[in-house]
Amino acid sequence: MRRLLPAVGVLVAACSNIASPAVNDIYEYRAFEFGDTLAFHWPRELLPVRIWVAADSPIRPYVVTAISRWQDAFLYGEFRATLVADSSTADVIVRNTPSDVGGVLLRRPILARAPQCNGETDPSLDPSSKTVQLPMHLFMYAVVSDAVPGIPACYSITMTHEVGHVIGILAHSPHSDDVMFANPEFDGISDRDRQTAITLYHRPSTVTVTGRR
Ligand SMILES: [Zn+2]
Repeated sequence: MRRLLPAVGVLVAACSNIASPAVNDIYEYRAFEFGDTLAFHWPRELLPVRIWVAADSPIRPYVVTAISRWQDAFLYGEFRATLVADSSTADVIVRNTPSDVGGVLLRRPILARAPQCNGETDPSLDPSSKTVQLPMHLFMYAVVSDAVPGIPACYSITMTHEVGHVIGILAHSPHSDDVMFANPEFDGISDRDRQTAITLYHRPSTVTVTGRR
């Protein structure tokens, strides 16, 4: 066990070294519209985040890709997620339908529009108590016929964008070449998206996670 201790020290040191130079190349990730600053990221003790999507859902492959992309944005496993088979144990529930939730808490749905599909993330964030009530909900669905060729690309971009909200990026990037742009066109995670996520995870979260576990 003693051999593990120096490794932890190195991790912390490397962590702060990475966050510092990133400051000039990030976009705003916090929410300000409630008169206070809300910054959310998953606490280490809740990792990996448990995500449920139906085994036969057509959007499942895009969830897998989006998780992999955001995990790979980090060097030290600051964000990790895993798919679970039982939705009752999930922190995040993903469905291939328009949103049908709301009204329980003051919610803040985040909508992304692309020509062929919509995405909507409900982080179940209550600004007054500064809590996230699990589970979060994520919706992504086609708005045109499934035969339209652009659907796979739209799903790929949109799911990466929505999982960006799930990891805690509450605001949108002003840059059209970032996946967190409000109407994203970039199919991946840009350097600026990556630096923003790293910066978010290396600063204190002002939001507490409640509900379920
Ligand atoms: Zn969005």
